[in-house]
Amino acid sequence: MAAQISDRLTVQEQEIRRLSDEIGRLLELGLQGTVEHSPNPVLEQLRAENEKLKYRIVHLQRSLEEERGGPEGTGKPAPNQPPPPPSPQPGREKHQAETNCNGKEEKSNGEKRTSSKGTGKNENKAAKEANELKQEALCAPLFIKDRLKLYETLKREHDALLSDRATNQSKTIKIRLPDGKLINGESWRTTPYQVAAGISQGLADNIVIAKVNNELWDLDRPLESDSTLELLKFDNEEAQAVYWHSSAHILGETMENYYGGCLCYGPPIENGFYYDMFLEGRGVSSNDFPTLENMCKSVIKEKQPFERLEVSKDLLLEMFKYNQFKCRILNEKVDTPTTTVYRCGPLIDLCRGPHVRHTGKVKTLKVYKNSSTYWEGKSDMETLQRIYGISFPDSKLMKEWEQFQEEAKKRDHRKIGKEQELFFFHDLSPGSCFFLPRGAHIYNTLIDFIKEEYQIRNFTEVASPNIYNSKLWETSGHWQHYSENMFSFEVEKETFALKPMNCPGHCLMFSHRPRSWRELPLRFADFGVLHRNELSGTLSGLTRVRRFQQDDAHIFCTMEQIKEEMNGCLQFLQSVYKVFGFTFQLHLSTRPENYLGETEIWDQAEKQLESSLNDFGEPWKLNPGDGAFYGPKIDINIKDAIGRYHQCATIQLDFQLPIRFDLTYVSKDGDDKKRPVIIHRAILGSVERMIAILCENYGGKWPFWISPCQVMVVPVGPSCDEYAQQVCKDIFEAGFMADVDLDHSCTLNKKIRNAQLAQYNFILVVGEKEKNNNAVNVRTRDNKVHGEISLTSAIKKLKQLKMSHSKNAEEEF
Ligand SMILES: [Zn+2]
Ligand SMILES: [Zn+2]
Repeated sequence: MAAQISDRLTVQEQEIRRLSDEIGRLLELGLQGTVEHSPNPVLEQLRAENEKLKYRIVHLQRSLEEERGGPEGTGKPAPNQPPPPPSPQPGREKHQAETNCNGKEEKSNGEKRTSSKGTGKNENKAAKEANELKQEALCAPLFIKDRLKLYETLKREHDALLSDRATNQSKTIKIRLPDGKLINGESWRTTPYQVAAGISQGLADNIVIAKVNNELWDLDRPLESDSTLELLKFDNEEAQAVYWHSSAHILGETMENYYGGCLCYGPPIENGFYYDMFLEGRGVSSNDFPTLENMCKSVIKEKQPFERLEVSKDLLLEMFKYNQFKCRILNEKVDTPTTTVYRCGPLIDLCRGPHVRHTGKVKTLKVYKNSSTYWEGKSDMETLQRIYGISFPDSKLMKEWEQFQEEAKKRDHRKIGKEQELFFFHDLSPGSCFFLPRGAHIYNTLIDFIKEEYQIRNFTEVASPNIYNSKLWETSGHWQHYSENMFSFEVEKETFALKPMNCPGHCLMFSHRPRSWRELPLRFADFGVLHRNELSGTLSGLTRVRRFQQDDAHIFCTMEQIKEEMNGCLQFLQSVYKVFGFTFQLHLSTRPENYLGETEIWDQAEKQLESSLNDFGEPWKLNPGDGAFYGPKIDINIKDAIGRYHQCATIQLDFQLPIRFDLTYVSKDGDDKKRPVIIHRAILGSVERMIAILCENYGGKWPFWISPCQVMVVPVGPSCDEYAQQVCKDIFEAGFMADVDLDHSCTLNKKIRNAQLAQYNFILVVGEKEKNNNAVNVRTRDNKVHGEISLTSAIKKLKQLKMSHSKNAEEEF
């Protein structure tokens, strides 16, 4: 039976290949000519045949798997892969921005644990499930067909309208290119692609998307009036987003064909894209990936054009009636009478666009991860299956990406944390880390480092409660906007909650007695323990946790003091990041549309931020309209050793919290109702997350001052054991992480090698000579030999190296 199916499969695949080539050829012809408005019947028929064959091949493949007793490892959950990289861009996936003190806009994307199908062992169940899969996949073409039918009717009307416009309303228009060059075009006729091809075919082939009058615009969409035109290639960030978003359609088309479920959202993320699908009662297995990739490949090969169509909301509700999720988007998110759908192949998707010209623009695509999530990240909503992909216009870029993934995997803090015995997690307290002695050493060293800076920079430390009555959170606004992310419970019939941030408590501290201008600026620093109720599935190592501490501080100051405080904050973060060896990017985010407060106050504050950024001397960028509704902010992205960006520090102005808590001070001229401004700021951000970043940045090779394995003492023979132990004790008492290797089963050289591999910064060898001289023989993890030195001098040197936060202590010793 299996052999039979296999034969049929081969024949079908050949057939598909033949049809695909034919379609590709026809499309090539179509795309080379001018924009065609009338559908090509031959093409349509071929497409339809191809579709049918594709469904059949999917079913045959499934039957074949059944016959063979399922592929190896069926039913195992997908391997635990690193979480998507954090992205500071709005509208993309959000990471846990611990420094955000309002909490409102930093919601998790609601991903939860990868679920498994659990087949393989139970054959009956597997057979039943396979049957269901077939049933559903067989149903898929039904809605696809209806959807396509309606689409085609509408498309014909639309095309007629367009060609009418092109014939009757077209006028000569001026198209201005970025270099100032003016080109003549015709409205409703000239497309950005044509303009590009007019410059050079090479350019036209390389551009991903156009920007017309500062708005992203499909390359084949005719210009409507005088326009400025930019042509963006893949190296442009916006073009990348369009590219990956278009790739998500390819994946979506494939998922619809393969699983037959309801597609939900398919956005680009910082690296790649994903598509969410609602699949009743089953999960996705990583075993599906090769098939999905192959199906994507044939979609790519077909060079399906992305067609744009504007449709009224009513008709769209009809078109997507089979998919309650798209209907929800239409009903809840679309507040205009019409919106757009895009077609590629059989997929018609609700989407604002724009996209690449056709699916063939994607040269290489990889499906690399799946997980499950909830509709809109809400745990009381439907469970969705999320499949991640990545794509590039060049296989070289894919190779680089794969190598980068390998490198990141090697540096994964969860791996290093285990190898170096830094920390672990336990199911009995998900998202709350257990720091073992070595990990706690890093933790405390980081905090001590910041505390030293506080001394120099006039920050005063406070300690504040962990538990507050919900009334506090009502005043601060967290209860209205953030309560689902807070752990709350009842105490004597009142609701209390664990604090997710320190600011409201600090407001109580500010207002517990009258304040005078003489006290300002008041800088309250707090390493308080914070809790946020992140969905269990979003938790990942130290990068997204439920329990964490921040190097949090709130500066209460006058409007006039903002600039100077900002200067202080910027210098503070510069000196901290210099120690870590991070470079960083600065962004000023200004007044958003939904801002609260007076325009003049915003203007004044933004001006001060701008001028302190200019004084600071480092380059910075403007993110207009990206500030929080309660104040403008400076975002800082640090760059790690393998080129990834992380947002840790934020300097955030807040005009609203002082109003909510009615904070006042007495001004110099006796006005006792003056409002202070609050500056929320953190440099490390979450200490937990910073440890993850540092761990991966150094790849486990920690600089001496923060290293969890600073010194290893190695006796030459058993007669020196006692002395070695004494040396180890003295060094530990001097405040260092020191160990002694008393295992005599391996040679001296092997012991030194082991300590070097374990990344001990210094290895102190002690033999009879050293014992007699009360000395140690120093070498480093990179095998630099410093030779004999008295123990007292060695400890003195180590202390100096620690104090100076040397990046290169092994050489400097
Ligand atoms: Zn705060
Ligand atoms: Zn789209």
